[in-house]
Amino acid sequence: MSRLKKYENATRKYLKMFGLTSWRVNFEWNPSDVNSEGSVFYCREDRNATFTLSRDVKLPDKVIDMIGFHEVLHVLLADLVSMAETTYSERAVSIAEHSIIVSLENFLTEEIKK
Ligand SMILES: [Zn+2]
Repeated sequence: MSRLKKYENATRKYLKMFGLTSWRVNFEWNPSDVNSEGSVFYCREDRNATFTLSRDVKLPDKVIDMIGFHEVLHVLLADLVSMAETTYSERAVSIAEHSIIVSLENFLTEEIKK
């Protein structure tokens, strides 16, 4: 199975887990200007989300799964982030958003270890 398909499967698993069924989703390799391992680009109004994965890095399955989890949390928080950005800077909101995401990643990692 290709890494992109593994990423899609992981992402779809977490979308389902969080009940994010109103989104239309696509999966692609990262655009050339994106150098993170994974990313998500979304339009809240259209409920479209494109999840991307780095083509360059050989990522273990567990890491691909965790990237899917991370990017799904961005979609989960999308409406809240959008509202917060009307009052606070994009950077401040991103820091607060990632603080929640990393806490949930740590929680999930601990749960997997049990
Ligand atoms: Zn992130």
